[in-house]
Amino acid sequence: PLNLVVVGGVAGGMSFAARARRLSESASITVFEKGPFVGYANCGIPYALGGIIQSDEALILQTPDSIKARYNVDIRHSTEVIAIDRENKTVEYKTQGQEAKSMKYDKLILAQGADAFRPPISGSNAPNVFTLQTIPDMTAIKSYVAAHCSKSVAVIGGGFIGLEAAESLHALGMKVSIVEYMPHVFPPVDQDIAEPIHAEIRRNNVDLHLNARVKEIVAPIEAEGTGNGSSHVLLESGEKVPGDIILLVVGVRPRITLAKTAGLEISRFGIVTNAQMQSTTDPDIYAVGDMAETTNSITLLPQNLALAGPANRQGRLAADHIFGRDVSYRGNVGTSVCQIFGINVGLVGPSITSLHSQSPNLDPEYVTVHPPNHAAYYPGATPLTLKLAFSKRNGNILGAQIIGKAGVDKRIDVLATAIQARMTVYDLEHLELAYAPPFGSAKDPVNMAGFVASNVLRGDTEIIHPEDLTPEILDQYQVIDVRSPGEFARGYVRGAKLAPLNELRGRLGDLDREKKVLVYCQVGYRGYLGYRILKQEGFKVVNLDGGFKAVSQGG
Ligand code: FAD
Repeated sequence: PLNLVVVGGVAGGMSFAARARRLSESASITVFEKGPFVGYANCGIPYALGGIIQSDEALILQTPDSIKARYNVDIRHSTEVIAIDRENKTVEYKTQGQEAKSMKYDKLILAQGADAFRPPISGSNAPNVFTLQTIPDMTAIKSYVAAHCSKSVAVIGGGFIGLEAAESLHALGMKVSIVEYMPHVFPPVDQDIAEPIHAEIRRNNVDLHLNARVKEIVAPIEAEGTGNGSSHVLLESGEKVPGDIILLVVGVRPRITLAKTAGLEISRFGIVTNAQMQSTTDPDIYAVGDMAETTNSITLLPQNLALAGPANRQGRLAADHIFGRDVSYRGNVGTSVCQIFGINVGLVGPSITSLHSQSPNLDPEYVTVHPPNHAAYYPGATPLTLKLAFSKRNGNILGAQIIGKAGVDKRIDVLATAIQARMTVYDLEHLELAYAPPFGSAKDPVNMAGFVASNVLRGDTEIIHPEDLTPEILDQYQVIDVRSPGEFARGYVRGAKLAPLNELRGRLGDLDREKKVLVYCQVGYRGYLGYRILKQEGFKVVNLDGGFKAVSQGG
């Protein structure tokens, strides 16, 4: 029988093992896991940290015994694979407290995941500095907080794990600060999409430090246990961010040491594989999950994407391939979603910023719409901001970012599906989606984004983006605000004249026919109606994409 050996017993490794068993009753399947748990839900860790998930046991989905009983897989937990001998096709492994031993393999599956990155910050080895990657990491934090009555936490890193942990520890009643190196949190999205997250974080009395460079972690021994706030993160600005405990959540790095020593091809994104997840150096070794380089199927650029869905699907696909199925991994589009207090953010594909910097060859353009999550007249409607990126050349959808209180996950998944089905913005105009007033609108936000993007491509509207409104550009336009006097009174674009949409037709004589018009409203729709009036009257005109709201969100 085929001897299958798996290194790493969580997302990718366990998906592989379970699928392999479903395809072959005769294969011998052994999973080595250096930690104490296998097949656990690491994505739930931030929520169990603060008690949102009330029991830590809820994260442990399977035990070695239950896996043995159901899948007949030999689980070796607390056992680290320390070397690979490719010539003799063996792995060397060591169980805690025992001598190293070796085991033969026919196919080896590396599913080792990624290490929490520990930047070389002075003081980061202090006992109150933690990373958050595994159940033991979480238990260590909980024990420390309980033993030392810790009251404050400084979270270094505003990525999704940092944000989730911040929310969770805030729910425990701790004073939480977030320190982010970049100008905005949740780095994969654009600045304007992150601005509402910043507002939500601050609204919940969490201190947020952006563009904040950490100089040093100052965690004096005498501060331990006093909870007196003398432990802190010192920023290069001189500011001190208090933290009885400090969480270092600044990203992950693929675990490549074992593969490197074994001579497998490695890039800065991880182990290089073909579309069947086989190492390009050795077809009997597969690499899946966080440790593997994958291709972004939109930009065709290599990347490292540390997300659970891809890891699970890659593990399953490797098993299919070993058992003779004709399968190929299609690459990633980077679909993700995150909840931060009362707000949700969803992303698929690269942000506009990275499309412009890394893939200008795709001719990226984007539109912004701000529709309600469901019929505005049905109680409880809340606005969404949806940015849709597409290629000017052919209308291919390149990405989407959505922020709002409700309905984000549904739209981001529709758009992720559309991208993977190679749909264009014209296809979004035709999408038939479920509608009743509590759920959506007859023209769903996804349709709306498709209408606007198609209008742009067909030349029915010309747009200008808020970030392009430099003083020099603004001077070239007569700026017309088609909102109501009340909206105008609350703020307007520099130099704008008020001409409410319903009065615009009667006010055309006031406009200079020789000067280009920049028309705008609050979210873009009345601006578009104004655009159509002006355009048909012979004016040269552009509409402000996303309207004044996009300007005030920092676009
Ligand atoms: P892992 O699931 O990390 O498994 C790798 C295992 O290999 C580890 O248990 C490790 O101990 C073991 N191992 C490593 N080296 C050896 C060795 N030499 N010998 C034996 N064992 C070894 N993704 C999402 O999509 N959504 C989320 O909401 C989300 N939340 C997350 C929250 C947290 C706190 C964390 C840490 C991650 C989260 N992720 C989330 C990411 C997701 O969990 C990972 O992308 C996914 O688990 C990767 O699967 P993997 O199989 O590559 O690695």
